[in-house]
Amino acid sequence: MASRNRKKLAELRRVLQAAGISGLELLSLDDVDPFPEAPETGATFEENALTKARAAFAATGIAAVADDSGLAVDALNGMPGVLSARWSGVTGASGEDRDRANTALLLAQLADVPDERRGAAFVSVCALVSPAGEVVVRGEWPGTIVREPRGEGGFGYDPVFQPLGSTRTAAELGPEEKDAVSHRGRALEQLLPALRDLAERDFA
Ligand code: IMP
Repeated sequence: MASRNRKKLAELRRVLQAAGISGLELLSLDDVDPFPEAPETGATFEENALTKARAAFAATGIAAVADDSGLAVDALNGMPGVLSARWSGVTGASGEDRDRANTALLLAQLADVPDERRGAAFVSVCALVSPAGEVVVRGEWPGTIVREPRGEGGFGYDPVFQPLGSTRTAAELGPEEKDAVSHRGRALEQLLPALRDLAERDFA
């Protein structure tokens, strides 16, 4: 997996196990020789995910999965989108400080937006690049942006995102509960046929 994020790695591991796929050894970028990583400057999630997966495959020769994700808010015409991680412009801060700043800015921007126009979706695009070719899949998790952060779980915009049909925010869901319905869970689910195929191939 072209990532250093242990949570993403653990999630892919859980998805593979749940699908009964064995025969794949899961590595992170910390487990391979360092190579120059391109900055995430693409205009779309697809572009960023593919760039990361292609770079990892080219450098290592090992099949690579990369994910790019973010929050698309209707009232902001789909933004923060690919800029989700750095929406508030806060850099150098720890993950939690940055998450808080991003969330506070988003709530301020939506302060005057009425309840019926507070729709949003988390989006995850996963790309798999391997000797068998390239596969790109997209998972979406629709919901609304609430007015005050709630919950201690998850990360990023989870405390202000209430999934459709739920009375809890994403930060009020347990990890397995979130995996089962989240954007990344839905994207990885679609990648399963290609991953199963990869597990059964012999590239030697
Ligand atoms: P990246 O794909 O790791 O670059 O994540 C992009 C940004 O999107 C994160 O920093 C979060 O702000 C946001 N994001 C992505 N997935 C989630 C999620 O599951 N919950 C909350 N925020 C998320």
